[in-house]
Amino acid sequence: MDVVRTRADLQAWHEAHPGSLGVVPTMGNLHAGHLDLVDAARAENDRVAVSIFVNPTQFGPNEDYDRYPRTLAADEAALRARGCDLLFAPDVPTMYPPGAETVVVPGRVAEPLCGHFRPGHFQGVATVVTLLFQMLRPTRAYFGQKDWQQGMVLRRLVLDLAFPLEIILCPTRREDDGLAMSSRNQYLSAEDRRRAIAIPAALQAVTRAYEAGERRIGRLQALLTAQLAREPALTVQYAEVVDAETLQPVDPLGDRPAVAAVAAFLGPTRLIDNVLLGEGRSLLRTRS
Ligand code: AMP
Repeated sequence: MDVVRTRADLQAWHEAHPGSLGVVPTMGNLHAGHLDLVDAARAENDRVAVSIFVNPTQFGPNEDYDRYPRTLAADEAALRARGCDLLFAPDVPTMYPPGAETVVVPGRVAEPLCGHFRPGHFQGVATVVTLLFQMLRPTRAYFGQKDWQQGMVLRRLVLDLAFPLEIILCPTRREDDGLAMSSRNQYLSAEDRRRAIAIPAALQAVTRAYEAGERRIGRLQALLTAQLAREPALTVQYAEVVDAETLQPVDPLGDRPAVAAVAAFLGPTRLIDNVLLGEGRSLLRTRS
């Protein structure tokens, strides 16, 4: 595996390595969910590149940018063992040189859910992913369904700005008890870690109701809220059932797929999770 930190070295790497390239953008502190994306990329491309960059522009002023876990040596070893070909680990000035001021502003899909509570977050994501697409030139780029709204924002980015690549959303990897894997899980106390399973349990209850034929969005949403309320330590930021593509409310649900999405705090730690309801396959692979 080659480790590259600068734009010039990346350019040289491209010249030496023609063929298709699967790209997995991450913020590091890699877990099995990230490595699933590496496997998916390897299965469909000549080579695989992973980027590790804790992107300052997608964190709000009171968020965890400074204390976000940075574990580059362990990540590098995990990627080598997984057969990754290239690790791109730029520093902040490589991504945002002095004077950088151009941004990518996503549309309405970035407004609800996390977008409402994290102003500027998806602009930061869209901007850094645009930069990574320009630098890494993926044939295909792989993201996780765990960040469903991010996936829909990036789907529109690829369609609207005609990026010549395919974007693929891979299934959420979960711990044995159902909690979605996340670098932020390690912030949880042992007690809060046990309580956190209330989130996937509530989403599973909604899935069961949907599979039993419930299509009234009010009912599904009430069920989600009631299930989450069973864990009093959870402070729910949002718990919504919305159209899976536009993330707008729809009632009643027609044939279009929906997503049930939750953001909740356990102490200071914010966790997100979601489940796709219905046939959403067409949203999982997008090319412009
Ligand atoms: P992050 O490092 O948290 O920015 O995540 C990098 C990529 O991995 C994003 O596309 C995430 O959606 C994806 N990802 C994070 N957690 C998981 C998970 N538990 N399962 C699958 N993909 C994930």
